[in-house]
Amino acid sequence: MARIVMKFGGTSMAGIERIRHVAQLVKREAEAGHRLAVVVSAMAGETDRLIQFCREASSLYDPREYDVVVASGEQVTSGLLAITLQGMGLNAKSYMGWQLPIRTSGHVAGLIDGIDADVLERVFDEGGIAVIPGFQGVSKAGDVTTLGRGGSDTSAVALAAALKADRCDIYTDVDGVYTTDPRIVPRARKLPAVTYEEMLELASVGAKVLQTRSVGLAMREKIPIRVLSSFDDRPGTMVVGDDQIEEFKMERQLITGIAYDKNEARVTLTGVPDRPGSVASIFAPLAKANVNVDMIVQSVPRAGQKSDLTFTVPTASLAQSRDLLEKVRAEVGFDELLTDTNVVKVSAVGVGMRSNAGIAAMMFQALADRGINILAITTSEIKVSVLIAEEYTELAVRVLHSAYGLDAEAAE
Ligand code: ASP
Ligand code: MG
Repeated sequence: MARIVMKFGGTSMAGIERIRHVAQLVKREAEAGHRLAVVVSAMAGETDRLIQFCREASSLYDPREYDVVVASGEQVTSGLLAITLQGMGLNAKSYMGWQLPIRTSGHVAGLIDGIDADVLERVFDEGGIAVIPGFQGVSKAGDVTTLGRGGSDTSAVALAAALKADRCDIYTDVDGVYTTDPRIVPRARKLPAVTYEEMLELASVGAKVLQTRSVGLAMREKIPIRVLSSFDDRPGTMVVGDDQIEEFKMERQLITGIAYDKNEARVTLTGVPDRPGSVASIFAPLAKANVNVDMIVQSVPRAGQKSDLTFTVPTASLAQSRDLLEKVRAEVGFDELLTDTNVVKVSAVGVGMRSNAGIAAMMFQALADRGINILAITTSEIKVSVLIAEEYTELAVRVLHSAYGLDAEAAE
């Protein structure tokens, strides 16, 4: 008998037919004798709809009231799943965030401070199944809160940690984590397992299977995650620690996956004076405004000359970044401020990179062979990213997927 947290995303919960199907999956695990806490998302599209209502009601809505409105989507689906499970003869009951409680701080994108397991332990002792709305918690003041978009993944992992669960199963509309986007590369393969770190890097560069925060939490709490589809019975992908990955007896590749992210924009400042503090006064206002600067390249000036500075910011922060930079233009004394949104960041990720030289060189060569120009580069211990023109996205992803030997033998 294991303790399992099962989490179902919005597509799996969209409508009574699908909820019935989810209930079957829950029943199967219950019949296998497992202790179950089930975390649900709102029906697909529902959270967007609720947010839109808030905006229409007032453009300056109060975050407290936003949470009251937006948390309701998950309340509906958890009640409906509990009703459905009861109809199948199972001892299931819903528990709202405040009933456990899931203690959080902050509204709209709240952080989980802790979850009390007592209520759920009692449910387990009595052989019951707990259905819990993802995404919601309660503040110190007793108000309803939400955890930020995609937050029910984090709810599920936090619950798994509080319950010391053996596993957190995340049922979604994709059947696992792939070596790259199968829409671009039909010969992409589903990975039997990835490490937390790889998943974090993949998520940060565009492979949005899990909310990034949930992966960080699972890594800290050592909760194995299984990503699988609620629509078919295939095994899915395990997300585990470095020490467990060997169990999956995969032939370890140098590279685990290729991801791309179109939500980056390039900013170039020309003629930046070559003196201590120039770069600091450019990035300080961006940092203060919480703009997430990613890739940074600075040209080396010849003696007495100025340099050029290129970096990327999320496209959504570009307008704000321009404003902030214009404000420091006089103080810093740069010449031009150029921006480009037609860029994409393509990344190769894999823990195999740690012990192998030449991974980045292979990437640069593969792109050079296709005449793709590199605008900026960043690396981490397990990731190499390049910024290129957006029109080359598909070509670059395909070329790198084969260059690193990731193509499946035959299309699956
Ligand atoms: N329903 C919320 C959202 O759409 C939370 C979630 O589904 O993870 O962002
Ligand atoms: Mg999600």
